[in-house]
Amino acid sequence: MSGPAMRHMRTKVEEQFVPMLDGLRAEALPHGRLLAGGVQLLIDHYRETFRVMDERSRKICWYEFSLTPEIFLAMGVHPFLGESHPATMALGTPEVCWEYVDVAEESGVPTELCVLDKFLLGALLRRELPEADFIVTASAPCDSSRIGYQMFERLVDAPVFRLDAPADDSPQAHAYYAAEIRKLIGFLEEQTGNRFDADRLREVCEESNRATEAVLEIFELRRARPCPHPGAVSNSLYQAMLNSLGTPAFTRYAEFLRDDAEEAVRAGRGAVANERHRVLWYYTPITFDFEMNAWLEQEFDSVVLTDLLASSLRQDPIDTTSVDTMLCGLARRGLEGTMGRVRVSADKLIQRFLLDYEYFGADCVVFPGPVGCKHVWGWIGLLREVCRERGIPMCVFDVDWMDSRVRPVESIRKSLEQFFSVTMAAR
Ligand code: SF4
Repeated sequence: MSGPAMRHMRTKVEEQFVPMLDGLRAEALPHGRLLAGGVQLLIDHYRETFRVMDERSRKICWYEFSLTPEIFLAMGVHPFLGESHPATMALGTPEVCWEYVDVAEESGVPTELCVLDKFLLGALLRRELPEADFIVTASAPCDSSRIGYQMFERLVDAPVFRLDAPADDSPQAHAYYAAEIRKLIGFLEEQTGNRFDADRLREVCEESNRATEAVLEIFELRRARPCPHPGAVSNSLYQAMLNSLGTPAFTRYAEFLRDDAEEAVRAGRGAVANERHRVLWYYTPITFDFEMNAWLEQEFDSVVLTDLLASSLRQDPIDTTSVDTMLCGLARRGLEGTMGRVRVSADKLIQRFLLDYEYFGADCVVFPGPVGCKHVWGWIGLLREVCRERGIPMCVFDVDWMDSRVRPVESIRKSLEQFFSVTMAAR
């Protein structure tokens, strides 16, 4: 295949995301004012990726969940989080997901593998991933990604660095992972020829702390009744944070949303005029149903407070006193954010779930269990028992959160309709 890599994505950015941004800015699309900043960050991230790739002006690192971008930014590397790419590529075009999943399965990958890894493999075979100078991956969050990265490594002519991620979230576990990040710094120095500069890392961490402080306040404000922003806003914030944390542009977006939520709470304005149900959407959003949040709001006066992935954005600041404290903060942030969060025992996950349920003042749980995420299914069984004992209404269904052929939108909505019109109506 000739021509530049990521041809499809280059076209998608200019022909889909740019007009979408115009529509949001003109308020021709719902919640345009609140979502435009997230789409702008997405466009900027991809345009910068294409530019760096074409000019080879600095090194590109393809990295995985269980790490955050600060260390790469501090080392002068362009960070590209592989796991955020599939959902962006398939946004509004689910057939793109079907194509890459089919390409992966035709190349011999078992159908049971997580859709993220099948999608990434298909995209890699179609040259729809950046031509990375190196890959950085960890032993978390799951078996599927462990197999996935072994496959990717065989196809990419680039060195791979692996971090050993502990299956715990104690201070000792964070210190262990911090030592792994210290080894990563040595690898990045070798690959880039750049020397590690503690002051530069401090600058980036301070920038990301400003953003995470605003994000924490946003979540605090989402506890208000009525919840000030629709579910779509927390999705947008999560996606933007994955790609842009540590940049001033992301901080500005987070602070804008924080100020807007503050004003809405002060005015008693909610995402849903007559908020009836407060939903804890535990685990992944349905990437091919862009209208899901709006549908729940309109049909059942129900607001999605957060999903599990976005809820992991509530992070304490990184202590910038010394290199050790910064690496510990980065370790905690990497391990406990995104899907890295599900690497711990079911008991720990249940404890966190109960804290989240109470913190947000939710009155029900929707748990779409991804078919490829086997360890999560083990957890769901135990969580169901806990919810039954405590009288927490829970709607569980199996789904492939990116491949709409496994369970189409109509079937998902049917399950939700039954839950809200039967279980929740009786409360
Ligand atoms: S959805 Fe589950 S199986 Fe897939 S990458 Fe995330 S943790 Fe792994």
